[in-house]
Amino acid sequence: SKKLRLILGDQLNIRHSWFQEVDDAVTFLMMEMRQETDYVPHHIQKVVGFFLAMRNFAEELKSLGHRILYFTLDDPENRQNLSDQLSFLISTQGYDRFEFQLPDEYRLDQILQQSCEKLPIPSSAIDSEHFLTTREFLKEFFKGKKTYLMESFYREMRRKYNILMDGKEPLTGQWNYDHDNRSALKDQKMLKKALIRPKDVSEIVEMLEKSGVKTIGNIDAKRFPWPTSREESLEILNYFCENLLTHFGTYQDALTTWDPYLFHSRLSFSLNTKMISPLEVVQTAEKHWYVHQNQISIAQVEGFIRQIIGWREYMRGVYWAKMPEFGEMNFFGHNRKLPEWFWTGKTKMNCLSQAIGQSLDLAYAHHIQRLMVTGNFALLAGIDPDEVDQWYLGIYIDAIEWVEITNTRGMSQFADGGIVGTKPYVSSANYIKKQGNYCSNCAYDSNKKTGHGACPFNSLYWHFYDRNRDKLEKNPRIGMAYRTWEKLENRQEILDQAEMYLNQLNDL
Ligand code: FAD
Ligand code: SF4
Repeated sequence: SKKLRLILGDQLNIRHSWFQEVDDAVTFLMMEMRQETDYVPHHIQKVVGFFLAMRNFAEELKSLGHRILYFTLDDPENRQNLSDQLSFLISTQGYDRFEFQLPDEYRLDQILQQSCEKLPIPSSAIDSEHFLTTREFLKEFFKGKKTYLMESFYREMRRKYNILMDGKEPLTGQWNYDHDNRSALKDQKMLKKALIRPKDVSEIVEMLEKSGVKTIGNIDAKRFPWPTSREESLEILNYFCENLLTHFGTYQDALTTWDPYLFHSRLSFSLNTKMISPLEVVQTAEKHWYVHQNQISIAQVEGFIRQIIGWREYMRGVYWAKMPEFGEMNFFGHNRKLPEWFWTGKTKMNCLSQAIGQSLDLAYAHHIQRLMVTGNFALLAGIDPDEVDQWYLGIYIDAIEWVEITNTRGMSQFADGGIVGTKPYVSSANYIKKQGNYCSNCAYDSNKKTGHGACPFNSLYWHFYDRNRDKLEKNPRIGMAYRTWEKLENRQEILDQAEMYLNQLNDL
């Protein structure tokens, strides 16, 4: 018998049970496809990162003795989409069984189901052995509930995997230290450089150019900065534990022009391609903390672990519980186009120019830049969530729909009406000013709501609340904002200022 097994670009999990024994009857199939480069314009570093990581993975499997069929994007035999390639291979190469790992994306799930129906041989799926829960776990866990509270899910994961636990209780008696984790960074000298092992990726960049793949963003092809193997990913994880974890939580929400990565781990691409697993990441951090408890406070390690076994795992569960409807949700009915400067970074608003400029250069922005700068602005300005999703799905090295759309449409744009979050994440300039130095170098005045040079966030913030009163006023976590709004004397002036900005979004 001859088996064909598919490995998708985000299934680079060398510890999967598939690879534990070499079997000559099994051929592993990997392909670089136009189907994947073209479903949205991606950042060039994202496409390069995926292809290089896939090539490295194929080499590793080969060196272990596995049989691999790898199609580069420019291979003349490459049919450029999964369905046609499978039909072609199966009709010409005499396979009698097709197997795949459950994909993370709804889109690929559909493609695979439809492709399998057309195949003349039996097919079956197996778990990707990466996540802590199954696709269905969260839906079952919250059965009958209208909102899915992340915190209860997170506690369940802590218990289930015995992470930072003392028997049935959280270690130190407290589950969550989020309140300690909100500081602005005051001292530039505290920063440590990110660990980067630059690689020459000219060959892949040339291939993409020759093939006419449309990409966004910038790349230095001689110095590609992202990890593309398990070994490099583990090196970054260890560097993080030894150098960055001590301040991770405290400065997680800092916004500054001093450094793009601050104390963040840069592990999302390694995790999302499954080069490393969430459990090994949190167990490594936990172990490191145990040994260095005198230097690293629990708030740091708890904050980090919560992002991974809490937020990341939770988002995946929400995705499978709510797709495909989730992708259509637009609670506020927002319908404006994304301003053109989202694609260039050329805006006078310093916070946005920094966060977008950095995203174009590095295919990276940290969580608070995504949530409270770009996401916040898009929500206040009433941008169509489809446009917002497309942008986030293209621009980040770690953007795969299951984790992008739940964060963007859900957490950031509140387009799900409150499945992921209990209230919209919006702020005026006050928050951005408090978190760092963006406002001190801006053409706009963070203290002004109206008049010449007033920061757009200030009037748009009140415009957002005012125009969505019927949808938000009854939310117990928001009532306070309306009481403050009622007390402002120049309400009409603020709304007029906002209207003026909304009518010239491209010129801000
Ligand atoms: P760190 O700050 O070091 O965090 C450690 C890890 O925790 C991350 O690598 C990531 O795996 C996980 N994590 C942290 N926050 C989240 C979260 N909210 N949801 C899921 N996992 C989380 N993350 C993606 O992986 N892909 C996306 O496409 C993506 N899109 C986002 C869009 C918006 C609008 C927002 C607000 C957030 C998005 N995030 C996304 C979550 C988060 O911003 C990134 O995971 C993080 O910035 C990656 O950088 P890091 O590895 O240095 O993270
Ligand atoms: Fe952003 Fe307003 Fe601050 Fe300028 S003043 S950096 S636009 S928040």
